[in-house]
Amino acid sequence: MGYYRFKRVEAYDGGIGAFATRPIPRGELVLREEPIVTGRSVEEVEVAVGALGPTERKKFYSLLGKTALEIFETNGYPCGERAGVMFELSRFNHSCRPNCGHHWEGGFQFLYAIRDVARGEELTTNYVPLAQPRAARRAGLPFECRCAACEPLDAASDARRIRISDLDGEIFAAARSRKSEKAAALATERLALLEEEGIDEPRAMVRTCNDAYQAMVSDDDRARVWLKKLYKFSLLCEPPDSPVLRDLEAKLKTLLTS
Ligand SMILES: [Zn+2]
Repeated sequence: MGYYRFKRVEAYDGGIGAFATRPIPRGELVLREEPIVTGRSVEEVEVAVGALGPTERKKFYSLLGKTALEIFETNGYPCGERAGVMFELSRFNHSCRPNCGHHWEGGFQFLYAIRDVARGEELTTNYVPLAQPRAARRAGLPFECRCAACEPLDAASDARRIRISDLDGEIFAAARSRKSEKAAALATERLALLEEEGIDEPRAMVRTCNDAYQAMVSDDDRARVWLKKLYKFSLLCEPPDSPVLRDLEAKLKTLLTS
């Protein structure tokens, strides 16, 4: 049984949305999909669309947009160094406080639940980066977002998202210059802000914990604390057979016995 079904939603002017057909726990893989078209330039997109077979072609042109390029721009997701259109994923709506997160790896786009989802709830993901204020998010979207994070305008939310974005660079800089205490303090602040803002998707948490962990070169106790956090969030966004998890387990084992 699948995790969702599509249905019409009044709020999207006759558009559709994906709704959970059962409760979905945080970290569960909702969708794994290969793109039907990928490209890095207008020419590449046009060639790729021209090469589609009749079934895929029909699917592609059923997506939102008039021309091939417009469909590609409206529905495309980053796929490594290219962009790509996934048929299923394209029909999930955007929210600036989504309950699913997408991630590209090994030729597939993965969609994970990033929080516990109740049966009947709409499944949403993000079309633009979340760590930016409302005006910047809206500038990157082909529509005026009216999600719970966007309306009403919340200056405190904007300030938190700007700080979350700034902290990313600050943590990395502190870690690189081996300022371990500073890195830990900034990482703790970033994790708390991500949670408070409701955008604590596991990959953002992993990135922050990893930067802090990298800074703890000569302090095994604190390295262990950050490695444990890193592992906890990695479990929520890596497939069970992921080499990343095996590598973290090996590192944890070494630290626990040192
Ligand atoms: Zn929004």
